[in-house]
Parts: sequence; C-alpha cells; structure tokens
Amino acid sequence: MQFKQDFFEQLEGFYSQVYPLPISNPHWLGWSDDAAQLIGLEKPNAELLMQLSANYAAPGASYYAQVYSGHQFGGYTPRLGDGRSIILGEAIGPNGAWDVALKGGGPTPYSRQGDGRAVMRSAVREFLVSEALAALNVPTSRALAVIGSDLPVWRESQETAAITVRLAKSHIRFGHFEYFCHGEQGDTGKLSQLVNFTIKQHFAHLSTDAAGYKQWFYEIVQSTAKMIAHWQSVGFAHGVMNTDNMSILGDTFDFGPFAFLDTFKEGFICNHSDHEGRYAFGQQPAVGLWNLKRLAQALTPIIESDDLIAALNTYQSELVKQYLRLMRGKLGLHQAASLHALNSQDLSAKPLSQEAQAELDKHDLQLLGLFTVLLETNQLDYTNSLRRFGQLDPSHSHSTLRDDMVDVAGFDTWYKAYQDRVGEVADIHGWQCERNSVNPKYILRNYLAQEAIIDIEENGDNSKLLQLQQLLRRPYDEQPEMEDFAKRPPDWGQGLIMSCSS
Ligand code: AMP
Ligand code: MG
Ligand code: MG
Repeated sequence: MQFKQDFFEQLEGFYSQVYPLPISNPHWLGWSDDAAQLIGLEKPNAELLMQLSANYAAPGASYYAQVYSGHQFGGYTPRLGDGRSIILGEAIGPNGAWDVALKGGGPTPYSRQGDGRAVMRSAVREFLVSEALAALNVPTSRALAVIGSDLPVWRESQETAAITVRLAKSHIRFGHFEYFCHGEQGDTGKLSQLVNFTIKQHFAHLSTDAAGYKQWFYEIVQSTAKMIAHWQSVGFAHGVMNTDNMSILGDTFDFGPFAFLDTFKEGFICNHSDHEGRYAFGQQPAVGLWNLKRLAQALTPIIESDDLIAALNTYQSELVKQYLRLMRGKLGLHQAASLHALNSQDLSAKPLSQEAQAELDKHDLQLLGLFTVLLETNQLDYTNSLRRFGQLDPSHSHSTLRDDMVDVAGFDTWYKAYQDRVGEVADIHGWQCERNSVNPKYILRNYLAQEAIIDIEENGDNSKLLQLQQLLRRPYDEQPEMEDFAKRPPDWGQGLIMSCSS
C-alpha cells in the first residue's frame, strides 16, 4: 500500500494519534479482490496479514482516530470519535485515494467504556454487506478484508475479536462538523478549516468561498437523497442512522444491525435497541432530512441560513426523482409522452412538459405505493417479488406474481393499472433481461450471513462466507447451483434482530 497523509498532515487537532494493538493468531476470513483493486493491491500475502492485524507496522501508515460528535437516536452526544477504528492513511489507487481503517483495531482516546474491538460476527457482517451493496451499485464504503483471531473479547458471553479492513473515500461524517460547531471547541476557525479540507479533497470542482460552500451543501443534500433512494429501492435498512454514521459523501457507512428486507414491511425495525422504530425502514427518507438539518445547523457559522434552507428544500424532490428512476427500471415503467398518451400508446422520446412529468410521477408513485401495499398485505418477499418481473409478459393477463397473492382481487386491480401503464412491449425478451439486470436475485439475507458466521464460530470454517461473498458479487446473475440462497428465510431466520455495538 502506498499512502498519502493529507488528513493527518493538514488537520492537526482533528484526531489523536494512536497505535492499534495486535490480534493474536490472525488469519484471513475474507478478502475482496474487487476492493483490493481500488488501492492497487493484488493478492493477499503473509506480510499484509501481519500489518492489517496490527502485528507489524505498515510502512507509510500514520495511525490515528478522528474526533467527532453526533446525534444518536435524536439526542446530542458532544464527543464520540473513532472508538474502535484506527485509520492508517489514504492509500493511493488507480482512480483516487481511499482511507484504510482497521475497525476493531483496539482502544483509542474515544473508546469510552468500550474495548476498541469488534467481534467476529459483526466484522464478517460489515465485510459482506460492504461488498454486496457495491455490487448492487449502492454508494457505500468498502471492505478489503476481514481478519479473524483467537483473541477473546467479552460481550454477553465470550467471543473472539476480528478486524474489518474498511476502505472509504473519506471518513468525514456529519458529526465532524457538529463537533467543531457545537463541540467543546466551539471553534469557527476549525470548522472552516474542515470545510475547506473536505471541499479541496472531495469536491475539487468547487471553490472554497461563499458560492462554493453553498453549492457544496447542496451537493451533500443531493447525494444523501440519492443514497437513501437506493436503500429504499433495494430494501436495505441501515438501522443506526445517527449523524455520526452519515458520510459527507453520501456513501452507506458504519454498519451495525443493518438488514435487507425479506418480507416487505414498511415499519420493519432491524435494530434491537430501536424501541420506537426511529430508524424503521420506512422512516429512512425522513431521517435523512432530519440528519441533514443537524448538519445545516452546524454549518450556520459559515453558510447563510437561506442558502442552507434552499438546499434542504431540494431533498424530497431529489429523493423522489431518484427513487422513481430506480423503481421504474425495476418494474419496467418506461417514459411515456404523457399520462393521457398512455391510453393511445403514443410513446415518444420527446421530453415531457413540466406538468405532464409531474402528473406521470404522481401516477407512478401511486402505482408503486400500491404495489408495496400488496406485498405487505400478502406478506411477500420484496426481492423475490421484484425478480418475478423478469419472467413477466405484461401483455398477458396471467402473471406468476398472481400465484403468490392471497388477495387475488386486489392484485388483479393493480395489475390492470400496471398493464395499462407499461403498454405494448416490442421486444419482450429484451424487456425481461432489462428487468433482471436491475432486480437482484441474491441479496445478503440476515439468515445467510448468520449461517456463515455460525460455521466460523462452531467449526472454524469460512467456506460458507467465501461462497456467499462470491455469490453476492454477481447478484443479478442466475447461479443455478446456488438457487437455495435466493429462498426466503427458514422459520428460525425470519425477522432476525441484531444489537447495536458489537
Ligand atoms: P456505532 O453505533 O457503531 O456507530 O458506535 C457508536 C460509537 O461507539 C462510536 O464512536 C464507536 O466508535 C463507539 N464504539 C462502538 N463499539 C465500541 C467498542 N467495542 N469499543 C470502543 N468504542 C466503541
Ligand atoms: Mg459509528
Ligand atoms: Mg460503528
């Protein structure tokens, strides 16, 4: 790994230097060739294993933990910081630099009561989901590797420690700005310094003046909206959308009790500690805005309130726009000349007038909303139901989706409206292939991750993990020998709920 140290060298006072502590008997549990390519690495080797398990120093690494704060479940915690993640520096890759962090690398000045470690099960989950989301084209941090050990750690019972080697284009979070606005520092100089650094490093097309700041916040609003539209479209629940877990780049970040939906449920809660459903699946779009408002508040010393508010006001429409784009692809609702023209099948490539577009958007949102209501009332699997669109011929009155329904009459009404909307499909084979290219067959179901984890825990065998990793690299492809992995969870694996910090 070739490091540069821009954060470390330019932002003194924004971190504590701290060396990771080794884990004993380190071994690769997982390695991602795809993530390795991002930082110009080839295959794993023994030397690298010793470096990434903190047994040897990595040449060129600086080792530091960043300080930040954040709103956790609605309440402000004035100082959080990296309690168990130690950053080595920015590894230079063929298309830009990536922070390399050892998550679970030992205690830091921000560990509070914690031991600075991650247990194997949570390290494995982060490894798998980072790479699975990337394969689904969801903006996300990445994972180079997960390293097991025989170091005991205590949670409810004794477990073993592991390290996830996380790659992120940046580890700067909403909470960083909150810290330097409201923090013990209350230091506008430092706040500007951090904003300028962030813009120069990650928004290089912007200037570091009032106009640049304004545009910068607007772009954060847009990328956050886009990220959350992706989550809603693939049925991903993050579980801990605290502002310290929101990346300034709109990448999915800091994985804990996350889950993909099995059965569709708007109010699905994946976090054991989330008693009120603050971070329930259907709440995520609203929480995204709430979090952006906390960021906006932290930026008021340097950006005009009117500009912040104007940017916040674009959040909802951007989220809807992105969600519609993704869901239209999934259901095959292609652009029509106008809602009126749907009836006459007058499809045209001409852009719609603003009014016609708004009418069409409203119509499609309603159609999509009714579809998810059908899934929920009939207790159907989200991913598998969408995958069925790849076998569908909308010109036929019968669809395999119908066979899944208990409320058949409700489905028939919906399906009629759907057929009217889709209209004539010239090339049905091409149409079906398009559906399959955006509706995954395979997702990281909680029970699958759990089976892989149990095999490591009980038998020291990571082959299920590796199999799952390979499967999820190609989520859209038929993989006939892996058919079982597309099934709904068995009884024991339904609605698995994870705890927060582990
Ligand atoms: P999270 O819910 O994972 O975002 O964690 C919230 C905060 O607790 C972050 O500042 C973490 O660094 C910290 N934290 C979580 N687990 C541990 C641990 N085992 N040791 C030290 N700090 C931790
Ligand atoms: Mg966190
Ligand atoms: Mg965390």
